[in-house]
Parts: sequence; structure tokens; C-alpha cells
Amino acid sequence: MSPQGRVSPAAGDAPSPRVLVIEDEQTIADLIALGLRYEGFEVDVASTGEEGLRLARGRQPQLVILDLMLPGVDGIEVCKRLRGLAACGIIMVTARGALEDRVRGLETGADDYLTKPFDFIELLARARAVLRRTGALREEALRVGDIELNPATREAFRAGRPLDLTAREFDLLAALMAHPRQVLSKEALLNRVWGYDFSGDTNVVEVFVSHLREKLGRDPVQPIQTVRGVGYTLRC
Ligand code: CA
Repeated sequence: MSPQGRVSPAAGDAPSPRVLVIEDEQTIADLIALGLRYEGFEVDVASTGEEGLRLARGRQPQLVILDLMLPGVDGIEVCKRLRGLAACGIIMVTARGALEDRVRGLETGADDYLTKPFDFIELLARARAVLRRTGALREEALRVGDIELNPATREAFRAGRPLDLTAREFDLLAALMAHPRQVLSKEALLNRVWGYDFSGDTNVVEVFVSHLREKLGRDPVQPIQTVRGVGYTLRC
């Protein structure tokens, strides 16, 4: 059986969703952009509200990840103006966790709200949820050999048999299936599944790979292979 991995959201003929990140903290902006590009999104970054609004007009993003605390025109004002010029989803991000900020953000037209510090994986899940709601993201089922995975329903099957996976096991399998036959390092899997700011070490990857292997089974082959000193690869 030939592997037919589909990398979503960039799968097939569907164009990658465009995301605009408006964030004045360079390190955070870089991490978000790096992570989203790896996931197949097209990403533009602006470090001020003015620049963000200009890019939003020119690039027509489907999703804006918007920091609340910006120099000059702040996030609330940017959010109001964005609502007037583009039919995009908006996720508001702030260091402050105060309820009034959340309410203010949502009243201004944000679709969701995230408080710093956050795991990249949480941002990614929320970004996909907003894009699905607005119709900008239609995730296809992934299929590699006899393994199937449905990102929308979060169900996974091997040879038609449902796999009872935890959320992390599902994300780990999805990461391997997005790059079939490629060797992924433990660090890459750690970043992808646990997030860039996860403070644990790569032992956690070994533990979860072992659980996932048990659930996938060996019939007809164990699909997750160890490439000694490098990482793991999915082949079946
Ligand atoms: Ca800021």
C-alpha cells in the first residue's frame, strides 16, 4: 500500500489559510510565525497596529492573531477597524488575564481570546477552530498506509479498527502522519506536540511513542520505526 500523507491545511488544491500576526514582542511573534508556517499556514507579521492594518488591507488574511497591548494604536482599536475592513477571524492575545479585558475583546468583535503565556499547541487548536467556523479551513482526513486520522472529529483508525488515543497521542500520530517516511527528531516532535515553551525533556516523547506503538500494534508491521540517534519515522 502506498503512503498518501496529506498535509493539511495546505493539502491538495486548497490554498493555505493566510494568517496575520500583530505582535510587538519580536520573540513571541517569531515563535508564532515559525510554528504556523511549519503547520502549512501563510504568515505575515506586523509589529505595530498601523502596520497590521496596512497588511490586513493588502493581504486579506483569513485570521488575525492580535496582541492587545501594542504601541500606538492598541489591540482594541485595531480589532474595531479590522472588523470594518476584512471578513477575517480574530484571536486576541494579551498578557493580562483580567475578565474585563476578555469581555472588552469579545465585545469589540474578537472570535476568541488567549492569555499569555500560552502553549503554541493551544494557539494552533484555537486558530484551526476559528478558521473552521469561518469556513476558511477544511481539514482533510490523513491517510498513511492502513492508518487513518480525521482532524475534524479527532478519530483515528488502523485497518478500520478505532484507536483509543489520548489527546497527546492523537497529536503525536498526526505529527508523524503529516510527514510520512521522513525522520522527525524528538526535539521536532516535542515542539510540535507539546509546544515551543514546554519545559520538559525529550524523554516524554519516548514515553508517548511507546504508548502509541502499543495502540497501533504490530499487525502487519509496527509503523513507528526508531532511527537510532536521530528520531522516528512512520512507514507502513
Ligand atoms: Ca504587546
